Amino acid sequence: MNRFRKLYEKEKKCRLNGDTIEEYHAWKEQTRETLKKLIGLNQMESCMLDARTLEVVELEGGVIREKVVIQVEPDVYMPFFILLPPRSEDSNTCYLALPGHMGAGKYAVAGCDEIPVVADQIKVFHYDYGMQLAKLGHVVICPDIRGFGERREEALQSDKESDFINGTCFHLAHMAEPLGQTVIGMHVWDMMRLLDYVKERAGWNFEKIGCVGFSGGGMITLWLTALDDRIHKACISGYFYGYQDSLLELNGNCSCNYVPHLWKYVDMGDIGALLAPRNIVIQSAREDHLNGKRGLQNVFEQLDIMKKAYHIFDKEECLYHDIREGGHCFHNEILNRFVSL
Ligand SMILES: [Zn+2]
Repeated sequence: MNRFRKLYEKEKKCRLNGDTIEEYHAWKEQTRETLKKLIGLNQMESCMLDARTLEVVELEGGVIREKVVIQVEPDVYMPFFILLPPRSEDSNTCYLALPGHMGAGKYAVAGCDEIPVVADQIKVFHYDYGMQLAKLGHVVICPDIRGFGERREEALQSDKESDFINGTCFHLAHMAEPLGQTVIGMHVWDMMRLLDYVKERAGWNFEKIGCVGFSGGGMITLWLTALDDRIHKACISGYFYGYQDSLLELNGNCSCNYVPHLWKYVDMGDIGALLAPRNIVIQSAREDHLNGKRGLQNVFEQLDIMKKAYHIFDKEECLYHDIREGGHCFHNEILNRFVSL
C-alpha cells in the first residue's frame, strides 16, 4: 500500500492551472482530449440511432412512460424510459436521470416499485429521483446503462432477484480494458448518443439539458458533464471525493470506477473543474463510507479545486455543495433547488 501511495502522490500531469478564462480554456481543451483518450472514447464507433418506441403506458398520477431503444454503436442497443409529466413546469429543460449500482438500471430511477426488489432498493437509496423529477412536472429520461437492467452480460442475465438488481461492470471491464476501452468510456459514449436523440427527436426543442445521478450514476454525470457542453446543469450525489482515500485505499470498489493511467493525470477535483462555470450541485452525505477515512475532508479538498475554476469565471455562486446527514443514499430534498437553477 505504501508504495502505491508514493506513486499516487507524484505530480499529476493535467492539474487545473491558469488564472484567466483564456488559460482555463486552453487547459480544458487539452485535459478533455487526454481524458477522452484514457477512457477510450475515441475508439467508440458511431452509427444510425435507429430509434424505436416499444411501449407507451400511462402510470398512476398521469405520468406517461415511453420505452424507447436506440442504437449506440453498431448492433449495441440501449433501452430507456422517458417519463412525460401530465403538466409541464418547464418546457425548456429535459433531464437525464442516471442509475448507479444495485437499482436494476432504469427501473429504480424511474420508480418501478411494482417490482418488489426494486421497491426495496428505492427505500434504501431513495433511488427514484427520475420519477420524483417527473412528478415535479419535468420530462425525464432514465436509461439502462451498460451492464444493468436489460443490458446485463450473460453472467447475470437470469431473472433471479439478486441477478436482476445487480450489474456486470466486472465482466465489462475485463473485456474492454485490454482492448483500450473502459466502462466509464462506454457509459459516457452512450449518454452522448442519448443527447443526440434528445436533440433530434421531432417535436422536442429543449434548450437546456440537466443531468442527475447518484453513486455510479453520479460518476457518469460527472464525466459526461466534464466532456460534453450540451449538459447545462448537473447534480452529482454520493460521488465526489479524492481518488487516493476513496479508490486507492478503498480498493475493493467496483471495477467500473477504475481507468488505467488516470491517476497520473488528474484527481477528481480536476475533472470537476471542467464543469465550470455551469450550475452544479455536489451532494455529499456526512457518514458516506465512500468518502474515505477522513470523511468530508476528502470532499472539501476536491471541491476547493473546482472552486478555483469557478473563481476564474467569477461564478462561485453557480457551484453548490449540499451536505446531508446519514450514509450513502440520495437525498431528494435537493431536487426543488436543482430544477430552479
Ligand atoms: Zn460498477
